[in-house]
Amino acid sequence: MNIILLGPPGAGKGTQARKLVDERNMVQLSTGDMLRAARSSGTEMGKKVAAVMDAGNLVTDEIVIGLIREQLEADNGASGYIFDGFPRTLAQADALGELLVSMGENLDCVVEMQVDDDALVERITARATCGPCGEVYNDITKPIPADGKCPKCGAADFQRRADDNEESLRTRLMAYYKQTSPLVGYYYAKGDLKSVDGLASMDDVAASIAKVLA
Ligand code: AMP
Repeated sequence: MNIILLGPPGAGKGTQARKLVDERNMVQLSTGDMLRAARSSGTEMGKKVAAVMDAGNLVTDEIVIGLIREQLEADNGASGYIFDGFPRTLAQADALGELLVSMGENLDCVVEMQVDDDALVERITARATCGPCGEVYNDITKPIPADGKCPKCGAADFQRRADDNEESLRTRLMAYYKQTSPLVGYYYAKGDLKSVDGLASMDDVAASIAKVLA
């Protein structure tokens, strides 16, 4: 099964993707994670995209489509892919469709995670992530434990993203509404779209996703 998690920054795509990986043995393909990895390993491409990402703008279609193509070629044979943060433009959506067809794969479902914009600002500015394992924490709803260690992996290396500030978030939200939200109509017209309430608790959102995937 191949699915897309679609929604604005802070909708909970990464959190739900990680749950699906744990529970269903699927492979998460997050272009945001791939770009951050390229930055921290200091590749030419990583250097090129750093400022664009920090400002909250989208990097070029060519770069992200290239990253996804490489991963699909490397991971071919997985039990299913979760596309997280990709596609973000109509050109990326077309390219993904073509890539899947060329691999003899289908897109089974696009899950739109609906949230309101005020909640996004609150979620994103309170967000921290465990560096080694990627577990997501939130100062209000899921604080970092008092002993300063991640219960999932035991590490004490929590990070805040450079673009998780109010100014970048406004740019990211604008990019979402201008460039990504047309994908809701695109996938609706293709008959692939299912919507869930992304504002519910993490477990309730997971249950709604399980229901639409059943
Ligand atoms: P994310 O982790 O998905 O919030 O992505 C972080 C940043 O990486 C975005 O604000 C963009 O600058 C860049 N990015 C991630 N995925 C894409 C994509 N599919 N297309 C263009 N830019 C992307």
